[in-house]
Amino acid sequence: MRIVMVGSGYVGLVSGTCLADFGHEVFCVDTDEKKIASLRLGNVPIYEPGLSELVLANQAAGRLSFATSLEEAARGARAIFIAVGTPSLAEVGSADMRYVYDAARAIADVVDDFTVVIVKSTVPIGSGDEVEAILASRLPQERFAVVSNPEFLREGAAIEDFKHPDRVIVGVENERAREVMHDIFRPLERNAGPIIFTSRRSAEMIKYAANVFLAMKVTFINEIADLCERLDADVLDVSRGIGLDDRIGSKFLNPGPGFGGSCFPKDTLALTKLAIEAKAPIRLVETLVDVNERRKIAMARKVESACGGSVAGKRIAVLGLTYKPKTDDMRDAPSLVIVPELQAAGARVVAYDPEGVKSARGLLHGVEFAENAYACLAGADAAVIITEWDEFRALDLHRVKATLGKPVVIDLRNIYPIKTMKALGFRYVCVGRGLAGEG
Ligand code: NAD
Repeated sequence: MRIVMVGSGYVGLVSGTCLADFGHEVFCVDTDEKKIASLRLGNVPIYEPGLSELVLANQAAGRLSFATSLEEAARGARAIFIAVGTPSLAEVGSADMRYVYDAARAIADVVDDFTVVIVKSTVPIGSGDEVEAILASRLPQERFAVVSNPEFLREGAAIEDFKHPDRVIVGVENERAREVMHDIFRPLERNAGPIIFTSRRSAEMIKYAANVFLAMKVTFINEIADLCERLDADVLDVSRGIGLDDRIGSKFLNPGPGFGGSCFPKDTLALTKLAIEAKAPIRLVETLVDVNERRKIAMARKVESACGGSVAGKRIAVLGLTYKPKTDDMRDAPSLVIVPELQAAGARVVAYDPEGVKSARGLLHGVEFAENAYACLAGADAAVIITEWDEFRALDLHRVKATLGKPVVIDLRNIYPIKTMKALGFRYVCVGRGLAGEG
Protein backbone atom coordinates (compact mmCIF):
# COMPACT_ATOMS: atom_id res chain seq x y z
CA MET A 1 0.00 0.00 0.00
CA ARG A 2 1.21 3.51 -0.69
CA ILE A 3 1.57 5.40 2.59
CA VAL A 4 2.70 8.94 3.32
CA MET A 5 4.24 10.04 6.60
CA VAL A 6 3.94 13.78 7.14
CA GLY A 7 6.76 14.69 9.53
CA SER A 8 10.02 12.74 9.36
CA GLY A 9 11.24 13.28 12.90
CA TYR A 10 11.72 10.57 15.48
CA VAL A 11 8.27 9.02 15.16
CA GLY A 12 7.66 9.67 11.46
CA LEU A 13 11.02 8.35 10.36
CA VAL A 14 10.94 5.23 12.53
CA SER A 15 7.30 4.46 11.68
CA GLY A 16 7.74 5.14 7.97
CA THR A 17 10.88 3.04 7.78
CA CYS A 18 9.33 0.10 9.65
CA LEU A 19 6.19 0.24 7.48
CA ALA A 20 8.43 0.18 4.39
CA ASP A 21 10.28 -2.77 5.88
CA PHE A 22 6.92 -4.59 6.10
CA GLY A 23 6.61 -4.14 2.34
CA HIS A 24 4.51 -0.98 2.07
CA GLU A 25 5.57 1.78 -0.30
CA VAL A 26 6.32 4.73 1.99
CA PHE A 27 6.99 8.40 1.33
CA CYS A 28 8.35 10.37 4.30
CA VAL A 29 7.70 14.07 3.91
CA ASP A 30 9.09 16.95 5.94
CA THR A 31 9.12 20.73 5.64
CA ASP A 32 12.74 20.71 6.82
CA GLU A 33 14.62 20.70 3.50
CA LYS A 34 17.99 19.99 5.11
CA LYS A 35 16.60 16.92 6.86
CA ILE A 36 15.11 15.55 3.64
CA ALA A 37 18.28 16.27 1.62
CA SER A 38 20.31 14.43 4.23
CA LEU A 39 17.88 11.47 4.35
CA ARG A 40 17.92 11.21 0.57
CA LEU A 41 21.68 10.72 0.81
CA GLY A 42 21.10 7.99 3.37
CA ASN A 43 22.24 10.09 6.34
CA VAL A 44 19.89 9.66 9.30
CA PRO A 45 19.83 12.84 11.39
CA ILE A 46 19.02 11.12 14.72
CA TYR A 47 20.82 8.44 16.67
CA GLU A 48 18.56 5.40 17.07
CA PRO A 49 20.08 1.90 17.16
CA GLY A 50 19.52 0.03 13.86
CA LEU A 51 17.69 2.88 12.14
CA SER A 52 20.39 3.89 9.63
CA GLU A 53 20.74 0.33 8.38
CA LEU A 54 16.99 -0.07 8.00
CA VAL A 55 16.61 3.25 6.17
CA LEU A 56 19.40 2.37 3.73
CA ALA A 57 18.04 -1.13 3.07
CA ASN A 58 14.52 0.11 2.33
CA GLN A 59 15.73 3.03 0.24
CA ALA A 60 17.80 0.59 -1.81
CA ALA A 61 14.79 -1.69 -2.20
CA GLY A 62 12.81 1.26 -3.56
CA ARG A 63 10.16 1.10 -0.84
CA LEU A 64 11.20 4.19 1.12
CA SER A 65 11.47 7.69 -0.37
CA PHE A 66 11.83 11.17 1.02
CA ALA A 67 10.23 14.37 -0.22
CA THR A 68 9.50 17.95 0.73
CA SER A 69 6.54 18.08 -1.63
CA LEU A 70 3.41 16.50 -0.22
CA GLU A 71 1.73 16.74 -3.60
CA GLU A 72 4.25 14.45 -5.23
CA ALA A 73 4.19 11.98 -2.32
CA ALA A 74 0.42 11.85 -1.89
CA ARG A 75 -0.38 10.78 -5.45
CA GLY A 76 -2.12 7.41 -5.21
CA ALA A 77 -1.69 7.15 -1.43
CA ARG A 78 -4.45 5.40 0.52
CA ALA A 79 -3.17 6.52 3.92
CA ILE A 80 -1.48 9.70 5.11
CA PHE A 81 -0.09 9.76 8.63
CA ILE A 82 0.44 13.00 10.53
CA ALA A 83 3.53 12.57 12.72
CA VAL A 84 4.58 16.17 13.32
CA GLY A 85 5.60 17.60 16.68
CA THR A 86 3.16 18.73 19.37
CA PRO A 87 5.47 20.61 21.76
CA SER A 88 4.34 22.56 24.81
CA LEU A 89 2.99 26.00 24.01
CA ALA A 90 5.43 28.38 25.72
CA GLU A 91 4.17 29.74 29.07
CA VAL A 92 0.81 27.99 28.63
CA GLY A 93 1.83 24.33 28.71
CA SER A 94 -0.94 22.97 26.52
CA ALA A 95 -0.01 21.14 23.30
CA ASP A 96 0.91 23.44 20.42
CA MET A 97 -1.30 22.10 17.64
CA ARG A 98 -0.21 24.42 14.87
CA TYR A 99 1.98 21.82 13.11
CA VAL A 100 -0.80 19.22 13.11
CA TYR A 101 -3.37 21.66 11.75
CA ASP A 102 -0.92 23.03 9.15
CA ALA A 103 -0.31 19.44 8.05
CA ALA A 104 -4.08 18.81 7.85
CA ARG A 105 -4.53 21.90 5.63
CA ALA A 106 -1.67 20.79 3.39
CA ILE A 107 -3.20 17.31 3.11
CA ALA A 108 -6.61 18.76 2.24
CA ASP A 109 -4.99 20.46 -0.76
CA VAL A 110 -3.64 17.24 -2.27
CA VAL A 111 -6.20 14.50 -1.57
CA ASP A 112 -7.87 13.37 -4.79
CA ASP A 113 -9.33 9.96 -3.94
CA PHE A 114 -10.58 8.30 -0.72
CA THR A 115 -7.72 8.73 1.76
CA VAL A 116 -7.39 7.83 5.42
CA VAL A 117 -5.73 10.62 7.39
CA ILE A 118 -4.17 9.14 10.50
CA VAL A 119 -3.11 11.31 13.42
CA LYS A 120 -0.07 9.64 14.98
CA SER A 121 1.14 12.70 16.86
CA THR A 122 0.14 12.84 20.53
CA VAL A 123 -2.78 15.27 20.52
CA PRO A 124 -5.34 16.57 23.01
CA ILE A 125 -8.61 14.68 23.12
CA GLY A 126 -10.92 16.06 20.44
CA SER A 127 -8.14 17.14 18.05
CA GLY A 128 -9.23 14.50 15.53
CA ASP A 129 -12.55 16.38 15.27
CA GLU A 130 -10.64 19.55 14.46
CA VAL A 131 -8.56 17.78 11.79
CA GLU A 132 -11.79 16.42 10.34
CA ALA A 133 -13.32 19.91 10.28
CA ILE A 134 -10.25 21.28 8.45
CA LEU A 135 -10.50 18.54 5.81
CA ALA A 136 -14.28 18.88 5.56
CA SER A 137 -13.95 22.60 4.87
CA ARG A 138 -12.00 21.78 1.69
CA LEU A 139 -13.04 18.26 0.64
CA PRO A 140 -16.27 16.29 0.14
CA GLN A 141 -16.97 14.06 3.18
CA GLU A 142 -16.75 10.81 1.19
CA ARG A 143 -13.17 11.49 0.14
CA PHE A 144 -11.51 11.10 3.54
CA ALA A 145 -11.73 9.66 7.04
CA VAL A 146 -9.75 10.75 10.10
CA VAL A 147 -8.27 8.11 12.38
CA SER A 148 -6.24 8.27 15.59
CA ASN A 149 -3.28 5.91 15.89
CA PRO A 150 -1.11 7.05 18.81
CA GLU A 151 2.48 5.85 18.95
CA PHE A 152 4.04 4.14 21.97
CA LEU A 153 7.60 3.53 20.77
CA ARG A 154 10.48 4.24 23.14
CA GLU A 155 13.52 6.10 21.89
CA GLY A 156 16.52 3.77 22.05
CA ALA A 157 14.32 0.73 21.31
CA ALA A 158 12.11 2.34 18.70
CA ILE A 159 12.37 -0.24 15.92
CA GLU A 160 11.73 -3.19 18.20
CA ASP A 161 8.78 -1.32 19.76
CA PHE A 162 7.27 -0.45 16.40
CA LYS A 163 7.64 -3.95 15.01
CA HIS A 164 6.60 -5.81 18.15
CA PRO A 165 4.25 -3.48 20.00
CA ASP A 166 2.36 -4.57 23.14
CA ARG A 167 -0.71 -3.32 21.33
CA VAL A 168 -1.74 -1.09 18.45
CA ILE A 169 -4.44 1.43 19.22
CA VAL A 170 -6.67 2.54 16.36
CA GLY A 171 -9.39 5.11 17.00
CA VAL A 172 -11.65 4.81 13.99
CA GLU A 173 -15.32 5.40 13.35
CA ASN A 174 -15.50 4.69 9.61
CA GLU A 175 -15.70 1.14 8.22
CA ARG A 176 -13.66 1.81 5.09
CA ALA A 177 -10.91 3.44 7.13
CA ARG A 178 -10.95 0.51 9.53
CA GLU A 179 -10.18 -1.85 6.64
CA VAL A 180 -7.30 0.32 5.49
CA MET A 181 -5.88 0.36 9.05
CA HIS A 182 -6.19 -3.40 9.15
CA ASP A 183 -4.23 -3.68 5.89
CA ILE A 184 -1.51 -1.36 7.19
CA PHE A 185 -0.95 -3.33 10.40
CA ARG A 186 -1.65 -6.84 9.09
CA PRO A 187 2.11 -7.64 9.02
CA LEU A 188 2.07 -7.31 12.82
CA GLU A 189 -0.65 -9.89 13.30
CA ARG A 190 1.61 -12.82 14.12
CA ASN A 191 4.29 -11.29 16.29
CA ALA A 192 2.74 -8.43 18.18
CA GLY A 193 0.03 -7.66 20.69
CA PRO A 194 -3.55 -7.09 19.60
CA ILE A 195 -4.90 -4.28 17.47
CA ILE A 196 -7.46 -2.52 19.63
CA PHE A 197 -10.15 -0.58 17.80
CA THR A 198 -11.72 2.24 19.81
CA SER A 199 -13.46 5.54 19.23
CA ARG A 200 -11.16 8.32 18.07
CA ARG A 201 -11.40 10.22 21.34
CA SER A 202 -10.70 7.12 23.41
CA ALA A 203 -7.57 6.46 21.34
CA GLU A 204 -6.39 10.02 21.94
CA MET A 205 -7.06 9.62 25.66
CA ILE A 206 -5.25 6.24 25.82
CA LYS A 207 -2.00 7.87 24.71
CA TYR A 208 -2.08 10.59 27.38
CA ALA A 209 -3.26 8.21 30.09
CA ALA A 210 -0.44 5.76 29.27
CA ASN A 211 2.32 8.38 29.34
CA VAL A 212 1.01 10.06 32.44
CA PHE A 213 0.72 6.74 34.26
CA LEU A 214 4.35 5.87 33.47
CA ALA A 215 5.51 9.34 34.53
CA MET A 216 3.57 8.79 37.75
CA LYS A 217 5.40 5.51 38.43
CA VAL A 218 8.75 7.23 37.97
CA THR A 219 7.76 10.10 40.22
CA PHE A 220 6.36 7.75 42.84
CA ILE A 221 9.58 5.74 43.13
CA ASN A 222 11.61 8.95 43.22
CA GLU A 223 9.66 10.12 46.24
CA ILE A 224 9.97 6.70 47.88
CA ALA A 225 13.73 6.97 47.22
CA ASP A 226 13.87 10.27 49.09
CA LEU A 227 12.09 8.66 52.00
CA CYS A 228 14.46 5.68 51.91
CA GLU A 229 17.39 8.07 52.27
CA ARG A 230 15.85 9.51 55.43
CA LEU A 231 14.65 6.24 56.95
CA ASP A 232 17.66 4.10 55.98
CA ALA A 233 15.91 1.67 53.63
CA ASP A 234 17.16 0.65 50.17
CA VAL A 235 14.94 1.75 47.29
CA LEU A 236 16.37 -0.94 44.98
CA ASP A 237 15.05 -3.62 47.34
CA VAL A 238 11.76 -1.75 47.58
CA SER A 239 11.44 -1.50 43.78
CA ARG A 240 12.09 -5.19 43.38
CA GLY A 241 9.82 -6.06 46.26
CA ILE A 242 6.87 -4.15 44.88
CA GLY A 243 7.63 -4.65 41.18
CA LEU A 244 7.24 -8.42 41.38
CA ASP A 245 3.61 -7.83 42.29
CA ASP A 246 1.79 -8.35 38.96
CA ARG A 247 -0.59 -5.55 39.82
CA ILE A 248 2.33 -3.11 40.00
CA GLY A 249 4.94 -4.41 37.52
CA SER A 250 8.68 -3.81 37.69
CA LYS A 251 9.17 -1.34 34.84
CA PHE A 252 9.58 2.40 35.41
CA LEU A 253 10.50 1.84 39.05
CA ASN A 254 14.13 2.98 38.84
CA PRO A 255 14.77 6.11 40.88
CA GLY A 256 16.79 8.85 39.26
CA PRO A 257 17.08 12.57 38.62
CA GLY A 258 13.48 13.01 37.41
CA PHE A 259 11.88 12.17 34.10
CA GLY A 260 12.67 14.10 30.93
CA GLY A 261 12.53 13.51 27.20
CA SER A 262 10.36 14.47 24.30
CA CYS A 263 7.10 13.09 25.73
CA PHE A 264 6.54 12.80 29.48
CA PRO A 265 7.19 16.45 30.42
CA LYS A 266 5.04 17.94 27.67
CA ASP A 267 2.31 15.30 27.85
CA THR A 268 1.87 15.48 31.63
CA LEU A 269 1.64 19.25 31.37
CA ALA A 270 -0.73 19.15 28.41
CA LEU A 271 -3.08 16.76 30.22
CA THR A 272 -3.25 19.02 33.28
CA LYS A 273 -4.21 21.96 31.04
CA LEU A 274 -6.75 19.90 29.15
CA ALA A 275 -8.29 18.68 32.41
CA ILE A 276 -8.59 22.22 33.74
CA GLU A 277 -10.27 23.34 30.50
CA ALA A 278 -12.65 20.36 30.77
CA LYS A 279 -13.42 21.44 34.36
CA ALA A 280 -12.15 18.12 35.74
CA PRO A 281 -8.68 19.03 37.06
CA ILE A 282 -6.36 16.07 37.72
CA ARG A 283 -4.57 17.07 40.88
CA LEU A 284 -2.47 13.92 40.96
CA VAL A 285 -0.89 14.86 37.63
CA GLU A 286 -0.53 18.53 38.55
CA THR A 287 1.41 17.43 41.61
CA LEU A 288 3.67 15.04 39.74
CA VAL A 289 4.62 17.77 37.25
CA ASP A 290 5.58 20.01 40.16
CA VAL A 291 7.43 17.24 42.05
CA ASN A 292 9.43 16.34 38.93
CA GLU A 293 10.47 19.94 38.29
CA ARG A 294 11.67 20.35 41.87
CA ARG A 295 13.51 17.06 41.76
CA LYS A 296 15.94 18.17 39.06
CA ILE A 297 16.92 21.17 41.18
CA ALA A 298 17.17 18.94 44.26
CA MET A 299 19.70 16.79 42.36
CA ALA A 300 21.98 19.82 41.97
CA ARG A 301 21.71 20.39 45.73
CA LYS A 302 22.61 16.74 46.28
CA VAL A 303 25.82 17.28 44.29
CA GLU A 304 26.62 20.38 46.32
CA SER A 305 26.12 18.54 49.56
CA ALA A 306 28.33 15.63 48.39
CA CYS A 307 31.00 18.24 47.63
CA GLY A 308 30.98 19.46 51.22
CA GLY A 309 28.16 22.00 50.91
CA SER A 310 29.41 24.06 47.96
CA VAL A 311 30.56 23.61 44.38
CA ALA A 312 31.84 27.18 44.05
CA GLY A 313 35.10 27.17 42.11
CA LYS A 314 35.01 23.39 41.80
CA ARG A 315 35.41 21.38 38.61
CA ILE A 316 32.45 19.02 38.26
CA ALA A 317 32.59 16.19 35.71
CA VAL A 318 29.20 15.23 34.31
CA LEU A 319 28.81 11.82 32.68
CA GLY A 320 25.71 11.60 30.49
CA LEU A 321 23.56 14.47 29.23
CA THR A 322 20.75 12.89 27.19
CA TYR A 323 17.50 12.15 29.00
CA LYS A 324 18.20 8.45 28.71
CA PRO A 325 20.79 6.18 27.07
CA LYS A 326 20.78 5.04 23.42
CA THR A 327 19.42 8.30 22.08
CA ASP A 328 20.90 11.68 21.20
CA ASP A 329 17.66 13.37 22.22
CA MET A 330 18.22 16.22 24.67
CA ARG A 331 14.61 17.42 24.83
CA ASP A 332 13.76 18.27 28.46
CA ALA A 333 16.72 16.24 29.71
CA PRO A 334 17.29 16.61 33.49
CA SER A 335 20.88 17.67 32.67
CA LEU A 336 19.45 20.88 31.18
CA VAL A 337 18.39 21.89 34.69
CA ILE A 338 21.08 20.23 36.81
CA VAL A 339 24.09 21.60 34.88
CA PRO A 340 22.95 25.27 34.87
CA GLU A 341 22.05 24.95 38.58
CA LEU A 342 25.58 23.77 39.32
CA GLN A 343 27.02 26.55 37.19
CA ALA A 344 24.86 29.11 39.00
CA ALA A 345 26.30 27.78 42.26
CA GLY A 346 29.80 28.52 40.93
CA ALA A 347 30.84 25.14 39.47
CA ARG A 348 32.95 24.74 36.34
CA VAL A 349 31.28 21.91 34.46
CA VAL A 350 33.01 19.52 32.08
CA ALA A 351 30.73 16.97 30.42
CA TYR A 352 30.83 13.90 28.26
CA ASP A 353 28.00 12.05 26.51
CA PRO A 354 28.45 9.30 23.89
CA GLU A 355 25.81 10.71 21.50
CA GLY A 356 24.31 13.87 22.96
CA VAL A 357 27.17 16.38 22.73
CA LYS A 358 26.17 17.71 19.30
CA SER A 359 22.73 18.80 20.51
CA ALA A 360 23.98 19.68 24.00
CA ARG A 361 26.42 22.26 22.63
CA GLY A 362 23.55 24.48 21.57
CA LEU A 363 21.64 24.03 24.83
CA LEU A 364 24.27 24.16 27.57
CA HIS A 365 26.49 27.21 27.69
CA GLY A 366 29.86 27.60 29.38
CA VAL A 367 30.33 23.83 29.53
CA GLU A 368 33.60 22.21 28.47
CA PHE A 369 32.90 19.06 26.46
CA ALA A 370 35.28 16.12 26.80
CA GLU A 371 36.14 13.45 24.23
CA ASN A 372 35.55 10.49 26.50
CA ALA A 373 34.68 9.57 30.09
CA TYR A 374 38.22 9.55 31.46
CA ALA A 375 39.11 12.88 29.83
CA CYS A 376 35.98 14.27 31.44
CA LEU A 377 36.98 13.05 34.90
CA ALA A 378 40.57 14.36 34.73
CA GLY A 379 41.32 16.48 37.78
CA ALA A 380 37.64 16.98 38.68
CA ASP A 381 36.50 17.59 42.25
CA ALA A 382 33.55 15.24 41.73
CA ALA A 383 31.92 13.08 39.07
CA VAL A 384 28.15 13.13 38.56
CA ILE A 385 26.49 10.31 36.59
CA ILE A 386 23.28 11.71 35.10
CA THR A 387 22.59 9.21 32.29
CA GLU A 388 23.24 5.48 32.62
CA TRP A 389 24.93 4.83 29.27
CA ASP A 390 26.30 1.27 29.12
CA GLU A 391 29.84 2.54 28.74
CA PHE A 392 29.62 4.15 32.20
CA ARG A 393 28.52 0.93 33.88
CA ALA A 394 31.88 -0.76 33.94
CA LEU A 395 34.42 2.03 34.10
CA ASP A 396 37.82 1.01 35.45
CA LEU A 397 37.23 2.27 38.98
CA HIS A 398 40.92 2.30 39.91
CA ARG A 399 41.53 4.50 36.89
CA VAL A 400 38.52 6.66 37.78
CA LYS A 401 39.95 7.21 41.27
CA ALA A 402 43.42 7.99 39.94
CA THR A 403 41.98 10.35 37.30
CA LEU A 404 39.64 12.36 39.48
CA GLY A 405 41.15 15.20 41.52
CA LYS A 406 39.01 14.10 44.47
CA PRO A 407 37.40 10.66 44.79
CA VAL A 408 33.80 11.86 44.92
CA VAL A 409 31.10 10.17 42.77
CA ILE A 410 27.46 11.19 42.79
CA ASP A 411 25.61 8.45 40.95
CA LEU A 412 22.08 9.63 40.11
CA ARG A 413 21.31 6.28 38.41
CA ASN A 414 22.55 3.82 41.06
CA ILE A 415 24.77 1.93 38.63
CA TYR A 416 27.58 1.05 41.07
CA PRO A 417 27.55 -1.12 44.20
CA ILE A 418 27.95 0.94 47.35
CA LYS A 419 30.29 -1.60 48.99
CA THR A 420 32.72 -1.66 46.06
CA MET A 421 32.84 2.11 45.83
CA LYS A 422 33.45 2.49 49.55
CA ALA A 423 36.09 -0.26 49.59
CA LEU A 424 37.93 1.64 46.85
CA GLY A 425 37.88 4.78 48.96
CA PHE A 426 35.30 6.83 47.07
CA ARG A 427 32.88 9.19 48.71
CA TYR A 428 29.92 7.65 46.90
CA VAL A 429 26.48 9.23 46.95
CA CYS A 430 23.57 7.62 45.15
CA VAL A 431 19.77 7.77 45.14
CA GLY A 432 17.51 6.25 47.79
CA ARG A 433 19.94 3.60 49.06
CA GLY A 434 19.65 4.54 52.76
CA LEU A 435 22.36 6.08 54.90
CA ALA A 436 25.08 3.97 53.23
CA GLY A 437 24.35 5.70 49.91
CA GLU A 438 24.74 9.16 51.36
CA GLY A 439 28.51 9.21 51.21
P1 NAD B 1 10.12 15.59 15.94
O1 NAD B 1 10.22 17.00 16.38
O2 NAD B 1 11.32 14.69 16.04
O3 NAD B 1 9.62 15.54 14.43
C1 NAD B 1 8.58 16.30 13.90
C2 NAD B 1 8.91 16.58 12.43
O4 NAD B 1 7.76 17.12 11.80
C3 NAD B 1 10.04 17.57 12.23
O5 NAD B 1 11.04 16.99 11.39
C4 NAD B 1 9.38 18.76 11.52
O6 NAD B 1 10.22 19.41 10.61
C5 NAD B 1 8.21 18.08 10.84
N1 NAD B 1 7.10 18.95 10.46
C6 NAD B 1 6.50 19.93 11.19
N2 NAD B 1 5.46 20.45 10.50
C7 NAD B 1 5.40 19.79 9.33
C8 NAD B 1 4.53 19.84 8.19
N3 NAD B 1 3.50 20.70 8.15
N4 NAD B 1 4.76 19.00 7.17
C9 NAD B 1 5.78 18.13 7.20
N5 NAD B 1 6.62 18.02 8.25
C10 NAD B 1 6.43 18.84 9.30
O7 NAD B 1 8.92 14.97 16.78
P2 NAD B 1 8.73 13.45 17.25
O8 NAD B 1 9.55 13.18 18.46
O9 NAD B 1 8.84 12.57 16.08
O10 NAD B 1 7.22 13.49 17.75
C11 NAD B 1 6.14 13.58 16.84
C12 NAD B 1 4.86 13.29 17.60
O11 NAD B 1 4.88 11.94 18.09
C13 NAD B 1 4.65 14.17 18.83
O12 NAD B 1 3.29 14.44 18.98
C14 NAD B 1 5.14 13.29 19.98
O13 NAD B 1 4.51 13.61 21.20
C15 NAD B 1 4.69 11.92 19.51
N6 NAD B 1 5.48 10.80 20.06
C16 NAD B 1 6.84 10.91 20.17
C17 NAD B 1 7.57 9.83 20.66
C18 NAD B 1 9.07 9.91 20.80
O14 NAD B 1 9.65 9.02 21.45
N7 NAD B 1 9.74 10.90 20.23
C19 NAD B 1 6.93 8.64 21.03
C20 NAD B 1 5.54 8.56 20.88
C21 NAD B 1 4.82 9.66 20.39
